[in-house]
Amino acid sequence: MKANSLKTRVLFWFGGVSAAVLILFSFVFYYLLDQSITLKIQTQLYKQAIQIEDKITAREPIEQVLQNLLAQDYEASVFKTGKLIGQSKNFHLSNPGFYARYSDRFVMLKSEKYLKGIYVLTLSKPFNGKLIVTTHEINNTIEDMADTLLTLIPMLLLTLLFLGSKLIDKILVPVKHITKTATEISINNFSGTISVPDKEDEIKALVEAFNDMIVRLKEGVDNLNRFNSDVSHELKTPLTVIKGEIEITLRKLRKPNEYIKSIQTIAYEAEQIEHMVKNLLLLTKYSKENITRTFEHCHLDAILLSTLEKYDATGKEKQLHLNIEKLEPIVTEANPMLLSMIFSNLIDNAIKYTPKHKNITISLYRDEKIHFIIKDEGIGIPKEKLSKITDRFYRVDESRNKKIKGFGLGLSIVKNSVELHGGEMTIISAVNQGSTIHVVL
Ligand code: ADP
Repeated sequence: MKANSLKTRVLFWFGGVSAAVLILFSFVFYYLLDQSITLKIQTQLYKQAIQIEDKITAREPIEQVLQNLLAQDYEASVFKTGKLIGQSKNFHLSNPGFYARYSDRFVMLKSEKYLKGIYVLTLSKPFNGKLIVTTHEINNTIEDMADTLLTLIPMLLLTLLFLGSKLIDKILVPVKHITKTATEISINNFSGTISVPDKEDEIKALVEAFNDMIVRLKEGVDNLNRFNSDVSHELKTPLTVIKGEIEITLRKLRKPNEYIKSIQTIAYEAEQIEHMVKNLLLLTKYSKENITRTFEHCHLDAILLSTLEKYDATGKEKQLHLNIEKLEPIVTEANPMLLSMIFSNLIDNAIKYTPKHKNITISLYRDEKIHFIIKDEGIGIPKEKLSKITDRFYRVDESRNKKIKGFGLGLSIVKNSVELHGGEMTIISAVNQGSTIHVVL
């Protein structure tokens, strides 16, 4: 057992408190026992003294009275003007004259083994004397009890410490388990979780919190791994284009406009890389745990209008009819950047995948929840592809999209952002008829 371990500290405090309680209890017990025995003896002697006084004052001959006392097993002596005038035969008290100077007083003589009570009663007129009544030598049970307590306390303390140590060991089992699991966890191994105890207590809460933490860490690391593999996979194409372009250009001396064209191609690819990395980073930046810290008071209608403004020119260019069916002023706590990403990606897709002269209808309203609905009359999404289109880098049939630029990240970002706000997104679509995307927050 380490000197500084939790177990040692708990045992130390437990032992200290138990010892203090036991000692205090013993003192109180000793005091109360002493008081009770003393009071009992005092009452008994007082009663005897009163009985004898009655007889003496009834003017019975003093020898007769003392004789009767012996028969009753009383120990008494009678003094008059400081002189002993009679005593029962079994009266044993050294120096009774000393006590005869007291009046109406109880004295308890205590030795280690015996107790002896003495009661001095002033006899009233006409006798005018002192009556001393004593007990036999009574076994000193108080001291016996003190001795018993003195041996019992250390034994009790040791038993308590032993039981306490076993109990702490039992309590610390899950903590040791947690330590072991935590030591085994590495970036490549998140397999360990701790079995949750049945009892609803602090240990269960700790184990659950720890298991949750493992799950969150695993999610974080999975996210990073996915990000790494996505980036390395998706960077390959534009980097190959850039490399090929440079190699071809450098093969021979070229005219200035050929260099310009080549650099433009490289610049375009670099821009694409930048855009993609930005989007990928956005997907890993926020998590359910940190998102609420970024929440602000957002005017959703204002964010939607300013996003629509950005797409006004593209919409007009394609001669699309952008209709706002419903637009309610809505204020809510949210991440404004992610909200704007939701709107812009969905509007961008609707414009991209809808042929000229068609309609796009937008609604934003609130009932118990906030609803954003965007409906287009575009090329639509085949039913069997619907479940995949929110996956990263997934694009429905590259050939039909050939002329339409994109990485297949937009819907993934939208889905992620909606879920971070505790919302849901549903997509209803039919090929060549159009798509309706409904976001509920
Ligand atoms: P991107 O548009 O960059 O390719 P998204 O993740 O936004 O990536 O969309 C994934 C795929 O889903 C798109 O490639 C497209 O095939 C399909 N899609 C998305 N929105 C629509 C839409 N409004 N109409 C038809 N197809 C769509």
